[in-house]
Amino acid sequence: MKGKTATVNKVQSPKLKVIRPSGTGFGYCINCYNGCEHGCQYCYSRKIAHKDEATWINAQPRLQIVDLLKKDVKNLKSSNIVIRDMFLCSICDAYQPIELQYGITRRVIEILIGEGLPFTVLTKNTNVLRDLDLFKGYEKCRVGLTIITLDDNFRNKLEPNASPIADRCDALETLKANGVSTYCSVEPIMPCKESDPIEIVKRLRNCVDLFEFGKWSPYIMKGIPVTYNEDYYVGLFGRLIPYCEQEGIKYCTASHSETFLKSKGFKFIPYQLVSDRPYPNPNDLHAKTR
Ligand code: SF4
Repeated sequence: MKGKTATVNKVQSPKLKVIRPSGTGFGYCINCYNGCEHGCQYCYSRKIAHKDEATWINAQPRLQIVDLLKKDVKNLKSSNIVIRDMFLCSICDAYQPIELQYGITRRVIEILIGEGLPFTVLTKNTNVLRDLDLFKGYEKCRVGLTIITLDDNFRNKLEPNASPIADRCDALETLKANGVSTYCSVEPIMPCKESDPIEIVKRLRNCVDLFEFGKWSPYIMKGIPVTYNEDYYVGLFGRLIPYCEQEGIKYCTASHSETFLKSKGFKFIPYQLVSDRPYPNPNDLHAKTR
């Protein structure tokens, strides 16, 4: 992602090639692929990357990322930066089908674990279970799946190449049963009955440690079978937040929804407030963005 250079005082900035400030509550991120085969209709990353749909779903591996990550880690170790969380991935899916061919995400995770670094994975693909052996017993990771609907026909319209919903629910149960810290991103909630976050919470509350909620930001309208309706979201969050608080559901709200939530008088609860690991303080956020 493009962004302005951010340099923070008193800390020597190492040259980083792979690890990036994510611009979200996760602090830092690594992107293992260019593009994403999942082809979600609402894909914000495709919009950021200025790619047409055909180019975007023809994802390409970032083959040099493993060697570059090793250099980044070496540079970080010689500086006084503390990385308290790393998000995989911010503008692609770490476990899209091509990962089974290239294994880049797995090698990245092996490096992070080998260096004792924390990370958070978020995916729409049950390929993530291939790496259960890596996640199990590693306390500094959280593994999440995105689920915005329990209706697989609706999922198929919006996320045509991602895993079926039932399989994603099973994957969360498997992760939880194996002692992995779990996470469910309910974002983007679509303004229709098929995308009901309260029903998703009811279905998954026993196997999800943390939910994240965010509305749809209609950057892309083509192929979306519903119409944006801000009043709908006001009503929805007016029900959802009291429900979670009454039921003792641990949740946060997505950074993309911050402006909306605050403008409508709702609390914005960023990931770093509810995460069980400290968010990088501003003095840590000094890596240069592209
Ligand atoms: S999984 Fe994420 S990056 Fe991939 S197409 Fe869907 S929204 Fe875009």
